[in-house]
Amino acid sequence: MHRMNIQYDLHAHSTASDGTLAPAELVRRARAAGVDVLALTDHDTTAGVEEAAQAARSEGLRLVAGVEVSVTWNGQTVHIVGLNVDSACDELQQGLAGLREFRHWRAEEIARRLEKHGVPGALEGARAYASGPIVSRTHFARYLVQRGAAADVRDVFKRYLVRGRPGHVAGQWAELDAAVAWIRAAGGQAVIAHPARYGLTATRLRRLIGEFKDCGGEGLEVVSGSHRPDECRTMAVHAQREGLLASAGSDYHGPENPWVELGRLSPLPESCIPIWTGARWTEGRHAPVRRLAAS
Ligand code: AMP
Ligand code: MN
Ligand code: MN
Ligand code: MN
Repeated sequence: MHRMNIQYDLHAHSTASDGTLAPAELVRRARAAGVDVLALTDHDTTAGVEEAAQAARSEGLRLVAGVEVSVTWNGQTVHIVGLNVDSACDELQQGLAGLREFRHWRAEEIARRLEKHGVPGALEGARAYASGPIVSRTHFARYLVQRGAAADVRDVFKRYLVRGRPGHVAGQWAELDAAVAWIRAAGGQAVIAHPARYGLTATRLRRLIGEFKDCGGEGLEVVSGSHRPDECRTMAVHAQREGLLASAGSDYHGPENPWVELGRLSPLPESCIPIWTGARWTEGRHAPVRRLAAS
């Protein structure tokens, strides 16, 4: 009967990718914010999961092992979150290793382009901000802010790191069907992350969802820290119409971004079937939630 009050946050980053809190710090902050079930979903790596799971055990929080896989779909970058993945799965790890290799090459290429544009030292600069196994555009952005090239991270993206800008390198990420297959091979559930962020028309989003379902995808992130309320409602309609389960996650990257906080999520619209409905969320290899949110 307390189950309605369980606080889920199924999308968050640590220093294993482009977040600024170490996995254990992230878990402690989530706990303090009232989160009962937290998914660690770093970009293209599960390197933070073990530390997070250990911290979760002592905090009495349930940690969902996750990952956010970078995908190129019809020339566009799309993110697919995997929830409840077994990080020991070879197929998943080999897939992610390939993406990290592309990331390393891309980081060198971004740095070469920035250098031609009069910004030297960006590879070393970005790497200094990356303490985990991936280098992200976010790390370049932090370096460029440090150099005074732009006022803040958002401004850097606009001026340097997006299509048509000097430091942009086109993504060559995983195929959609491969990403979903890796997640499923690891026993996980695949979810389209922050679907309102891709600038897709309703028709193209339906096409993405159709292909995603055909290869075994199950969920749509209806509630996201990067969705406006009207976008949540639109995505709830898509989820219901296409028969996808609904997920909710903050996409937290750290306290530097005051607009997004762990666990501060609006509830899923009534029409949604939450992805945490069902046996695999209440049984299996995860410890039960010890402390429920105050009712
Ligand atoms: P990457 O996967 O290395 O290409 O970097 C993508 C990451 O950059 C996303 O996960 C966000 O954390 C961040 N990001 C993307 N676009 C923006 C933006 N316009 N402003 C701030 N951060 C962004
Ligand atoms: Mn990110
Ligand atoms: Mn994302
Ligand atoms: Mn994310």
